[in-house]
Amino acid sequence: NRINIAIDGPAGAGKSTVARLVANQLSYIYVDTGAMYRAVTWFLTKHGVGPEVPDQVLEHVQHMLIELTPDHGGQRVWVNGEDVTSYIRTPQVNGLVSRYAQIEGLRTHLVQLQRQMALRKGVVMDGRDIGTTVLPDAEVKIFMTATVKERALRRFNEMNDAERTSLEQLEKDISMRDTLDEQREISPLRRAEDAILLDTTEMNIHQVVEKIVSLCRS
Ligand code: C5P
Repeated sequence: NRINIAIDGPAGAGKSTVARLVANQLSYIYVDTGAMYRAVTWFLTKHGVGPEVPDQVLEHVQHMLIELTPDHGGQRVWVNGEDVTSYIRTPQVNGLVSRYAQIEGLRTHLVQLQRQMALRKGVVMDGRDIGTTVLPDAEVKIFMTATVKERALRRFNEMNDAERTSLEQLEKDISMRDTLDEQREISPLRRAEDAILLDTTEMNIHQVVEKIVSLCRS
Protein backbone atom coordinates (compact mmCIF):
# COMPACT_ATOMS: atom_id res chain seq x y z
CA ASN A 1 0.00 0.00 0.00
CA ARG A 2 1.47 3.30 -1.10
CA ILE A 3 1.54 6.14 1.40
CA ASN A 4 2.55 9.81 1.38
CA ILE A 5 5.51 11.05 3.39
CA ALA A 6 5.83 14.68 4.51
CA ILE A 7 9.27 16.02 5.46
CA ASP A 8 9.47 19.53 6.90
CA GLY A 9 12.10 21.55 8.67
CA PRO A 10 14.28 24.65 8.52
CA ALA A 11 16.73 25.53 5.73
CA GLY A 12 19.71 23.26 5.27
CA ALA A 13 18.55 20.46 7.57
CA GLY A 14 19.22 17.96 4.78
CA LYS A 15 15.56 17.44 3.87
CA SER A 16 16.06 17.30 0.10
CA THR A 17 18.92 14.82 0.19
CA VAL A 18 17.08 12.60 2.62
CA ALA A 19 13.73 12.89 0.84
CA ARG A 20 15.34 11.95 -2.47
CA LEU A 21 17.05 8.89 -1.02
CA VAL A 22 13.91 7.74 0.79
CA ALA A 23 11.94 8.11 -2.44
CA ASN A 24 14.53 6.07 -4.33
CA GLN A 25 14.51 3.27 -1.76
CA LEU A 26 10.72 3.02 -1.83
CA SER A 27 10.40 3.68 -5.59
CA TYR A 28 8.31 6.73 -4.74
CA ILE A 29 8.18 10.14 -6.39
CA TYR A 30 10.21 12.91 -4.81
CA VAL A 31 8.69 16.41 -4.76
CA ASP A 32 10.85 19.35 -3.63
CA THR A 33 8.37 22.15 -2.95
CA GLY A 34 11.12 24.65 -2.13
CA ALA A 35 12.14 24.41 -5.79
CA MET A 36 8.69 25.71 -6.75
CA TYR A 37 9.01 28.81 -4.54
CA ARG A 38 12.52 29.24 -5.92
CA ALA A 39 11.35 28.95 -9.54
CA VAL A 40 8.72 31.63 -8.92
CA THR A 41 11.36 33.85 -7.31
CA TRP A 42 13.75 33.42 -10.24
CA PHE A 43 11.02 34.10 -12.81
CA LEU A 44 9.64 37.20 -11.10
CA THR A 45 12.99 38.82 -10.35
CA LYS A 46 13.83 38.27 -14.02
CA HIS A 47 10.64 40.18 -14.90
CA GLY A 48 11.35 42.90 -12.36
CA VAL A 49 8.37 42.06 -10.15
CA GLY A 50 9.36 42.30 -6.50
CA PRO A 51 7.66 40.68 -3.49
CA GLU A 52 6.39 44.10 -2.35
CA VAL A 53 3.77 44.09 -5.15
CA PRO A 54 1.68 40.95 -4.43
CA ASP A 55 -0.99 41.83 -7.01
CA GLN A 56 1.55 41.81 -9.80
CA VAL A 57 3.14 38.66 -8.44
CA LEU A 58 -0.20 36.86 -8.62
CA GLU A 59 -0.88 38.22 -12.09
CA HIS A 60 2.43 36.80 -13.36
CA VAL A 61 1.98 33.49 -11.58
CA GLN A 62 -1.24 32.91 -13.54
CA HIS A 63 0.91 32.83 -16.69
CA MET A 64 3.56 30.59 -15.27
CA LEU A 65 3.54 26.88 -15.98
CA ILE A 66 5.63 25.16 -13.30
CA GLU A 67 6.56 21.54 -13.89
CA LEU A 68 8.67 19.10 -11.90
CA THR A 69 10.18 16.07 -13.59
CA PRO A 70 12.21 13.21 -12.10
CA ASP A 71 15.88 13.19 -13.04
CA HIS A 72 18.45 10.55 -12.00
CA GLY A 73 16.74 10.13 -8.66
CA GLY A 74 16.56 13.92 -8.28
CA GLN A 75 14.22 16.49 -9.75
CA ARG A 76 14.31 19.08 -12.53
CA VAL A 77 12.22 22.24 -12.47
CA TRP A 78 10.69 23.82 -15.57
CA VAL A 79 9.05 27.20 -16.08
CA ASN A 80 7.05 27.63 -19.27
CA GLY A 81 9.04 24.83 -20.86
CA GLU A 82 12.46 26.15 -19.84
CA ASP A 83 14.68 24.06 -17.55
CA VAL A 84 15.51 26.44 -14.69
CA THR A 85 17.04 23.86 -12.32
CA SER A 86 20.48 25.45 -12.42
CA TYR A 87 19.21 29.02 -11.87
CA ILE A 88 17.29 28.63 -8.64
CA ARG A 89 19.99 28.08 -6.01
CA THR A 90 21.87 31.34 -6.38
CA PRO A 91 22.51 33.73 -3.45
CA GLN A 92 20.08 36.17 -5.11
CA VAL A 93 17.23 33.64 -5.02
CA ASN A 94 18.21 32.53 -1.50
CA GLY A 95 17.95 36.12 -0.34
CA LEU A 96 14.48 36.76 -1.77
CA VAL A 97 12.58 33.48 -1.79
CA SER A 98 11.20 33.72 1.77
CA ARG A 99 9.72 37.12 0.97
CA TYR A 100 7.76 35.84 -2.01
CA ALA A 101 6.79 32.80 0.09
CA GLN A 102 4.85 35.11 2.44
CA ILE A 103 2.34 36.04 -0.26
CA GLU A 104 -0.95 34.31 0.50
CA GLY A 105 -2.28 33.94 -3.06
CA LEU A 106 1.02 32.52 -4.25
CA ARG A 107 0.97 29.91 -1.50
CA THR A 108 -2.63 28.95 -2.29
CA HIS A 109 -1.67 28.44 -5.92
CA LEU A 110 1.42 26.32 -5.20
CA VAL A 111 -0.29 24.28 -2.47
CA GLN A 112 -2.99 23.35 -4.96
CA LEU A 113 -0.37 22.10 -7.44
CA GLN A 114 1.42 20.19 -4.68
CA ARG A 115 -1.77 18.44 -3.56
CA GLN A 116 -2.46 17.34 -7.13
CA MET A 117 0.98 15.75 -7.31
CA ALA A 118 0.25 13.65 -4.23
CA LEU A 119 -3.24 12.46 -5.16
CA ARG A 120 -2.13 9.02 -6.25
CA LYS A 121 0.09 8.50 -3.17
CA GLY A 122 3.65 7.22 -3.23
CA VAL A 123 5.09 10.71 -2.82
CA VAL A 124 7.88 11.98 -0.59
CA MET A 125 7.35 15.73 -0.35
CA ASP A 126 9.69 18.13 1.41
CA GLY A 127 9.11 21.74 2.41
CA ARG A 128 8.00 23.87 5.35
CA ASP A 129 4.23 23.35 5.54
CA ILE A 130 3.72 19.88 4.10
CA GLY A 131 2.65 18.13 7.33
CA THR A 132 0.61 21.08 8.56
CA THR A 133 -1.07 22.39 5.40
CA VAL A 134 -0.31 20.68 2.09
CA LEU A 135 -0.78 17.05 3.14
CA PRO A 136 -2.26 17.04 6.64
CA ASP A 137 -3.30 13.41 6.05
CA ALA A 138 0.18 12.16 5.10
CA GLU A 139 0.72 8.76 6.71
CA VAL A 140 4.26 9.57 7.83
CA LYS A 141 5.35 13.04 8.94
CA ILE A 142 8.88 14.01 9.83
CA PHE A 143 10.18 17.29 11.19
CA MET A 144 13.94 17.41 10.59
CA THR A 145 16.16 19.84 12.43
CA ALA A 146 19.82 20.40 13.24
CA THR A 147 21.66 23.29 14.85
CA VAL A 148 22.12 26.34 12.63
CA LYS A 149 25.92 25.84 12.75
CA GLU A 150 25.63 22.28 11.51
CA ARG A 151 23.17 23.29 8.78
CA ALA A 152 25.42 26.07 7.52
CA LEU A 153 28.34 23.64 7.46
CA ARG A 154 26.34 21.11 5.43
CA ARG A 155 25.34 23.74 2.90
CA PHE A 156 28.94 24.95 2.72
CA ASN A 157 30.20 21.46 1.94
CA GLU A 158 27.56 20.97 -0.78
CA MET A 159 28.55 24.12 -2.66
CA ASN A 160 30.97 24.25 -5.55
CA ASP A 161 33.74 26.83 -5.77
CA ALA A 162 31.66 29.26 -7.84
CA GLU A 163 28.75 29.22 -5.39
CA ARG A 164 30.74 29.20 -2.17
CA THR A 165 30.35 32.09 0.26
CA SER A 166 31.77 32.27 3.78
CA LEU A 167 30.43 30.05 6.52
CA GLU A 168 29.44 33.10 8.57
CA GLN A 169 27.49 34.52 5.64
CA LEU A 170 25.72 31.18 5.17
CA GLU A 171 24.80 31.04 8.84
CA LYS A 172 23.35 34.55 8.59
CA ASP A 173 21.35 33.73 5.44
CA ILE A 174 19.96 30.55 6.97
CA SER A 175 18.98 32.29 10.23
CA MET A 176 17.27 35.07 8.31
CA ARG A 177 15.23 32.61 6.25
CA ASP A 178 14.33 30.59 9.36
CA THR A 179 13.03 33.72 11.06
CA LEU A 180 10.96 34.79 8.05
CA ASP A 181 9.59 31.26 7.57
CA GLU A 182 8.75 30.79 11.26
CA GLN A 183 7.16 34.20 11.72
CA ARG A 184 5.06 34.56 8.59
CA GLU A 185 1.30 34.66 9.04
CA ILE A 186 0.27 32.03 6.51
CA SER A 187 1.30 28.45 7.24
CA PRO A 188 4.51 29.27 9.08
CA LEU A 189 7.28 26.74 9.50
CA ARG A 190 6.42 24.53 12.44
CA ARG A 191 6.18 20.90 13.42
CA ALA A 192 2.76 19.33 12.88
CA GLU A 193 1.44 17.87 16.12
CA ASP A 194 1.68 14.35 14.73
CA ALA A 195 5.09 14.78 13.09
CA ILE A 196 8.09 12.90 14.43
CA LEU A 197 10.89 15.22 15.47
CA LEU A 198 14.30 14.13 14.11
CA ASP A 199 17.26 16.14 15.34
CA THR A 200 19.93 15.15 12.83
CA THR A 201 22.81 17.19 14.26
CA GLU A 202 24.61 14.02 15.31
CA MET A 203 23.27 11.72 12.60
CA ASN A 204 24.63 10.99 9.15
CA ILE A 205 22.45 10.85 6.05
CA HIS A 206 22.38 7.07 5.97
CA GLN A 207 21.06 6.89 9.54
CA VAL A 208 18.34 9.45 8.85
CA VAL A 209 17.21 7.65 5.69
CA GLU A 210 17.13 4.27 7.47
CA LYS A 211 15.10 5.75 10.31
CA ILE A 212 12.47 7.20 7.97
CA VAL A 213 12.25 4.11 5.76
CA SER A 214 11.74 1.95 8.85
CA LEU A 215 8.96 4.27 10.04
CA CYS A 216 7.30 3.87 6.62
CA ARG A 217 7.45 0.11 6.78
CA SER A 218 6.09 -0.19 10.32
O1 C5P B 1 13.56 24.14 0.77
P1 C5P B 1 14.22 25.39 0.26
O2 C5P B 1 15.30 25.88 1.18
O3 C5P B 1 14.69 25.25 -1.14
O4 C5P B 1 13.06 26.48 0.27
C1 C5P B 1 13.29 27.81 -0.10
C2 C5P B 1 12.28 28.72 0.57
O5 C5P B 1 10.98 28.50 0.01
C3 C5P B 1 12.10 28.55 2.07
O6 C5P B 1 13.05 29.28 2.82
C4 C5P B 1 10.68 29.08 2.28
O7 C5P B 1 10.67 30.49 2.38
C5 C5P B 1 9.98 28.70 1.00
N1 C5P B 1 9.19 27.47 1.14
C6 C5P B 1 7.95 27.56 1.72
N2 C5P B 1 7.14 26.47 1.79
C7 C5P B 1 7.56 25.28 1.33
C8 C5P B 1 8.84 25.15 0.74
C9 C5P B 1 9.65 26.28 0.68
O8 C5P B 1 7.55 28.64 2.17
N3 C5P B 1 6.75 24.22 1.38
